[in-house]
Amino acid sequence: MKKNKRLQKLREILPEKRLDGIIISQPENRYYLSGFNGSAGYLIITQDKAVLTTDFRYTEQAANQAPDYEIIRIKGKLDGWFPGLVSSLNIRRLGFESEVINLVEYRKYRNSLKKKGIPAWLIATSGIVEDLRILKDPDEIRCIEKAVEIADKAYTGMEDNIKPGMTEKRVAWEIEKSLREKGSEALPFEVIVASGPNAALPHHQPSDRAIREGEPVLIDMGARYGGYASDLSRTLSMGKPDDTFLKVYNTVLDAQETAMSIIKGKMTGHTADNAARKIIDKAGYGDMFGHSLGHGVGLAAHELPHVSPDSKDILSDGMVFTVEPGIYLSGWGGVRIEDTVVMENGRVRAVTRARKVRYD
Ligand code: ZN
Repeated sequence: MKKNKRLQKLREILPEKRLDGIIISQPENRYYLSGFNGSAGYLIITQDKAVLTTDFRYTEQAANQAPDYEIIRIKGKLDGWFPGLVSSLNIRRLGFESEVINLVEYRKYRNSLKKKGIPAWLIATSGIVEDLRILKDPDEIRCIEKAVEIADKAYTGMEDNIKPGMTEKRVAWEIEKSLREKGSEALPFEVIVASGPNAALPHHQPSDRAIREGEPVLIDMGARYGGYASDLSRTLSMGKPDDTFLKVYNTVLDAQETAMSIIKGKMTGHTADNAARKIIDKAGYGDMFGHSLGHGVGLAAHELPHVSPDSKDILSDGMVFTVEPGIYLSGWGGVRIEDTVVMENGRVRAVTRARKVRYD
């Protein structure tokens, strides 16, 4: 039923884009519109038809997962099925996802139509389904809440056990195991554990470096549930924090919490980002906050809305995104604090509950 609603919304957009139909192959978009989570297949959607083509490996699964679609089993090259299908669906202007179809594939599509003399145009589209995905329905929010809860629990378990002497890789592996044991599906991204100077790299890959006393340790992790991701970062001081840590950490924490309390419905991503950035600027670390305040979270770990200095996205109810300011000092380390939040009744509600340590 919900899937139908999504199809319905998409169908309302097609005429606005002057399209008779659209072909969807981006995996998250395909899942969002159909419920089919196999790794190969195309949706072809027109005003009155919804077709899912896939190969032998997935036809049965597709029939079970995508009841709103007519399932067509395809075999071999594009020439064998694509032109015929486009023709039988009476499509003259067929949209395709320009983010996922590369030039070689585009030519294959085009040439297969040409060879068979099918008078159809391929029209590049961008972000049509991604724009629909920006607003989450209650079922989607429940999945994200569950993914957040799993990450919170895994984080708490790690916080109780992390010690100087453990390598970054070891900590990352313990977190990964714990996420899976607590119910996460395949992780949405690799766990980041960055200690000491490594924490100055926002997306450091865990190494064999052993964590030392008196250092910052930055952890960024997420779980996946029902296909939906969560995203969580915390930074800990191993043992007694030094003065730099206190100043940097408390600035990031202040920026994070202030932004969460200030962000309101109808704000642009830019204004939301600025709520945190102002505080970091004022503390003298403006140049060391080199990424966006946040990003949408859903079927992808990074999706719309953008919560960034140049974002014109209007924040509104039903959006799920992160609030994650950070400060990174080359040679010393870094601090990032990140919650996943949902916008409700024009305000931000933190879904993340993992503890934020207070240092003073
Ligand atoms: Zn994030």
